[in-house]
Amino acid sequence: MDLELNETQKLVRETARSFAREKVAPRAKLHDREERFPAEIYRQMGELGLLGVNVPPQLGGAGAGAVSYALAMMEISTACASTAVGMAVTNMCAELIAEAGTEAQRKKYVPRLASGEALVGAFALSEPHCGSDAAALRTRARRVGDRYVLDGSKQWVSSGAFAGVMVVWARTAPAGDSPRRGISCFIVEGNPPGLTVGKPEDKMGLRGSNTVPLTFEGCEVPAENLLGKEGDGFRLALLALQGGRIGIASQACGVARAALEASVAYSKQRTAFGQRLADFQALRFCMANIATELGAAELLTLRAAWLKEAGQRFVREASMAKLFASEMAQRACDKAVQIHGGYGYIDEFPVERYLRDARVQTIYEGTSEIQRMVIAREILKAAG
Ligand SMILES: Cc1cc2nc3c(=O)[nH]c(=O)nc-3n(C[C@H](O)[C@H](O)[C@H](O)COP(=O)(O)OP(=O)(O)OC[C@H]3O[C@@H](n4cnc5c(N)ncnc54)[C@H](O)[C@@H]3O)c2cc1C
Repeated sequence: MDLELNETQKLVRETARSFAREKVAPRAKLHDREERFPAEIYRQMGELGLLGVNVPPQLGGAGAGAVSYALAMMEISTACASTAVGMAVTNMCAELIAEAGTEAQRKKYVPRLASGEALVGAFALSEPHCGSDAAALRTRARRVGDRYVLDGSKQWVSSGAFAGVMVVWARTAPAGDSPRRGISCFIVEGNPPGLTVGKPEDKMGLRGSNTVPLTFEGCEVPAENLLGKEGDGFRLALLALQGGRIGIASQACGVARAALEASVAYSKQRTAFGQRLADFQALRFCMANIATELGAAELLTLRAAWLKEAGQRFVREASMAKLFASEMAQRACDKAVQIHGGYGYIDEFPVERYLRDARVQTIYEGTSEIQRMVIAREILKAAG
């Protein structure tokens, strides 16, 4: 990435890069193999400002902007995509509360998230029966005096067993004719009575990231923890997901970068038919294609981040970046396994992990189909 970056962006990228190389990469294989949540790494990330990159300094963030955030996510993801999941969701929660919270909510929760005091944040929107169609959610929140009482089930909550602060979506009014309008968002602290964390999912990839179902049964949340107004929740979910898509696009770029670097290194040391793999034109073209597509994905991602930072509309651009980068990462990781031959298929080399980690990127935070729907809607709307 050779773009003209400002001093802050260069500093954040360098900080994330050295941290990723020294602390994150050496443990990535272990975290994957043992499904170990990298708690100690998040504490250090909090100290470095990587959990609140685009959060104002007065709320404990780095205040470094959306472009810096994308660059930092790329660096951490190159080392370990699992670790990057917790980083992404924590930044997302911190930014959402900073943007939509009351003064008291901002002061109480954003510094905890950005500093790592809460360890990580979690984002509980999906339910067992609905992910893409989030407005179909059924978790209920009833107002009882100065509290809301939550009942229902959430599915696929990243870091759900470890998060000190969660944002949880629930229905405060019946779905009726307009299901989106009855949804509200709540800040839930730690592990309150009435919340049961289920068994972690046994995933194909991202095995160092914790993914759990949550069950709310009469779980009481103080009324002051309503984020935004009653009925404002769906809008807030979309707001958070728009920024979140830049995070997943960055994650995809990071994993593809790791796959390319591994392929280049391997192709230079392995020989066949008396020459290096790197000397076969078929494999050179393959690496050229990965590098070109990666460059395009990085530019799409940074464009979306730049628009966000400039306060401009970035819905279409964030979806384009997420769509292209996640599909590109799968192609890149698949080719990386091919370049490694049989060694690509065993865990002695990291490319099999990259392929498993990349697979989910076209699914979470809006599938590729949903991104195409968003992009099409935006371009048709712009055309009048
Ligand atoms: C590892 C992991 C971590 C996750 N972390 C979180 C998290 O932290 N918080 C959270 O809330 N959620 C999380 N999710 C959930 C994730 O966001 C959903 O899985 C995703 O949004 C897809 O929803 P779904 O699984 O219900 O699939 P479905 O919505 O059932 O979709 C199934 C298929 O149908 C397609 N489809 C659906 N609707 C349409 C349509 N209108 N047109 C065309 N095709 C369509 C989809 O694209 C997909 O191919 C996570 C998921 C995973 C796997």
